[in-house]
Amino acid sequence: MRVLGIETSCDETGVALYDTEHGLLADALFSQVAMHADYGGVVPELASRDHTRKLLPLVDEVLAEANLTRGDLDGIAYTAGPGLAGALMVGAATAHGLALALERPVLGVHHMEGHLLAPMLEDEPPAFPFVALLVSGGHTQLVEVQGIGRYQLLGESVDDAAGEAFDKAAKMLGLDYPGGPRVAKLAEQGDPKRLRFPRPMTDRPGLDFSFSGLKTHTLTTLRAFEAEGPLDDQARADIARAFEEAVVDTLVIKCRRALDQTGLKRLVVAGGVSANVRLRERLEHECAKRDARAYYPRGRFCTDNGAMIAYVGAQRLLAGERDEPGVFAARPRWPMDTLTPPETN
Ligand code: ATP
Ligand code: MG
Ligand code: FE
Repeated sequence: MRVLGIETSCDETGVALYDTEHGLLADALFSQVAMHADYGGVVPELASRDHTRKLLPLVDEVLAEANLTRGDLDGIAYTAGPGLAGALMVGAATAHGLALALERPVLGVHHMEGHLLAPMLEDEPPAFPFVALLVSGGHTQLVEVQGIGRYQLLGESVDDAAGEAFDKAAKMLGLDYPGGPRVAKLAEQGDPKRLRFPRPMTDRPGLDFSFSGLKTHTLTTLRAFEAEGPLDDQARADIARAFEEAVVDTLVIKCRRALDQTGLKRLVVAGGVSANVRLRERLEHECAKRDARAYYPRGRFCTDNGAMIAYVGAQRLLAGERDEPGVFAARPRWPMDTLTPPETN
C-alpha cells in the first residue's frame, strides 16, 4: 500500500511517500524556521499561511521524485494533532480534499506516535516491546510500548519540555531559534567543570521531569556573571555546557530508571532533542553497561517530517482504519495514551 504522509503541526511542512512493501519512496521538507526567526519563536498565523503555500508543491515534488502520479496513491495520512490548530487544519483539509478527489481512504494520525515510530524507518528497527523517550519541542515523555497503539505513559514533564528549555536557554544566551542545536554547538567550547546546574526531580523516585527550574537557574547564573562585568564568550559557552549537561544527565537518569522498572532492554529515543550528540553518547554508554540497545531516527527524522506520518498512516490504513470522508477536525491537544492498536479486520 502506497501512502502519502502530510505533516503540518508546527513550523515544518513535511511530505513523504511510504510503501508498505518497499519502504520509504520519497520525502521532502520545507522548514519555516527562517520566517519565524525574526520573532524569536513560531507565529501560528504565519505558520498556517505558509503551510497553505508550500504543501501542494511539496506533494508534487515527492510524487515526481518517486516517478508516480496522484492516481498511484492508495491512501493519505496527515497529522491531526497535537499541534497548532490552524497549522493542523491546513494539513487535514488538504488531505481530505485530495482523498475526496482521488477516492482514496484518508486518516488523521497522532504526531507523537509519528515521532515514536520514526526509528521504524531505519535499517535495523527496534522490535517490540521497548521503552521510548520522546523529547521534542512540546513533549518530554517516557512511554512503555508493547506494540503500535499500545502505549503506557510512565512519566512526563510537569512543566516545560526539554526542547522548549533548550530554546529558552538559547534565547537568554542570545542565540537564534530553534535553540537546541545552537546551545549544543556553543557548549562544545564550554568547560564542563566550571559550573554545575541542578538535575531536577532526580533526588526522588518517579519518572516525571521538570525543566522550568533550569531555565530560571540559567537566568540567575547569567545575571551573576553580568554583575561582574560584560559577559565574555567563554562564560556563555560554560553556561551552555552546564545547561546541556544538566538536561542530558536528567534524561539519562530517568531512562535508566525506566529500563530498570520495566525490565526492558530496548530504548527508543525520538523527537528533536534526540538529535543531540551528547545525549546519544551518554545513552549509548548506559545501554552498553546494561546489555541494552538504543534506537534513534536518522538525523533529519528526529525533528518534524512527513516520513513518520506516512509510516504510521500506512500501518493503520492497511489495517482498515480511516476517517469518514470529508469529516475531520484538528486536535491541538490529544493525549497519546488514548490511542488504540490498529483495527484488525
Ligand atoms: P512536538 O513534537 O512536541 O509537537 P516540535 O514538533 O516542535 O514539538 P520537534 O520538531 O520534534 O519538536 O523538535 C524540535 C525541538 O528539538 C526544538 O526545541 C529544538 O531546539 C530541539 N532540538 C533540535 N536539535 C537539537 C539538539 N541537537 N540538541 C538539543 N535540542 C535539539
Ligand atoms: Mg519544528
Ligand atoms: Fe514534533
